[in-house]
Amino acid sequence: MNKDTGPPRKPIASNACSESVCAMLDRVGVPRDSKWRGLILYMRSIKSYDFLDTEQKEQFQALVMEVLRAGDFTDEKFREVIKANERILSTPWNRALTRTLAETAALVQEFQDAMFRHKGGVQNLEDVTVQAVESGGDVDRMLGTIRRGFQEMVTLIEEDAEKMVALTLTDSLTSIANRRAFDEQMGRVVAQAVAKGHRLSLFMCDIDHFKRFNDEHGHRIGDQALVVVGSILRGFAEEMKQLEDRDIFPARYGGEEFAVTLVDVAKNEATELADIIRRKIERYNFVIRDPDGQILAAGIKINVSIGVAELLEDCPTPDIDHLVDAADKALYLAKSSGRNQVCAYVKG
Ligand code: GH3
Ligand code: MG
Ligand code: MG
Repeated sequence: MNKDTGPPRKPIASNACSESVCAMLDRVGVPRDSKWRGLILYMRSIKSYDFLDTEQKEQFQALVMEVLRAGDFTDEKFREVIKANERILSTPWNRALTRTLAETAALVQEFQDAMFRHKGGVQNLEDVTVQAVESGGDVDRMLGTIRRGFQEMVTLIEEDAEKMVALTLTDSLTSIANRRAFDEQMGRVVAQAVAKGHRLSLFMCDIDHFKRFNDEHGHRIGDQALVVVGSILRGFAEEMKQLEDRDIFPARYGGEEFAVTLVDVAKNEATELADIIRRKIERYNFVIRDPDGQILAAGIKINVSIGVAELLEDCPTPDIDHLVDAADKALYLAKSSGRNQVCAYVKG
């Protein structure tokens, strides 16, 4: 192996000094054969230690100068200088520690806030932290491991928060948007329609004789019917989005009533689309099963009535309540005209 390719050799502190240096040490009164000579020589040679940065080398230089100037070669001073040495050596480590701890502190704070709300996973994090500390070694790596542990917890908590928000906007039975989501969506699309001059239609869809349906088949089967209507509405909206990039938003308005907003759709077209949905529901064959999956009854039907209204065309102001009122009036017309049909709002 080439002699020059190995790691740089570190100078070894010793009391041996060149003639000129020894003479200089004598001159400033450094006691011969004392530990001071070794220490001063070591600090002078520190320039060739490549693991020290420039700032550390300068600090060592200044320390040597101060020792020589002070001329205090007591044991007490020696201990003081050794401590100063240690301080200089550990400065970058402390800086890295401070920086990493500061970065971690923000995460810890975030974590503490969430910890009370999220107990699962805390034990795991504790284990990670203890393992990282016990494994010792490189401080950056150790704190990195702990930080990743905290970061994972924060991510989990954030995901939980997102899920919670989604839950507050979703109807638990049908899994489509609930009344709150509908109100939020309406606020947005009404404002947009007014700002951009888009047309906006709404239809209200109500299951016909649902009380009778519940009485005949029981509430649980009634719930299944609601789920079916919700999924037909959602399927239709998704299909329209995919095929025609249409913005159709169905929601469970309450009970057995659903609301659907249609952005950039005028009342005539909305009425046609509503009738497609009505027919889909009419064609649907319910199969009722017992808890073991055995079919108890098949071919059971439900129908819906739908009332359609358009923003501004059918209501005096761009107001959610006015638009819903107009669609409700149209729905009442559909009911009073015999049910299982779609009616558009007519003035008067
Ligand atoms: P109409 O054709 O005039 O709409 O008659 P209807 O019987 O559907 O209307 P009504 O308002 O008299 O009754 C609504 C029924 O919807 C009564 C209620 O028990 C039922 N219902 C509301 N919410 C739910 C639900 O979450 N699950 C079930 N199974 N039934 C529900
Ligand atoms: Mg009804
Ligand atoms: Mg109703």
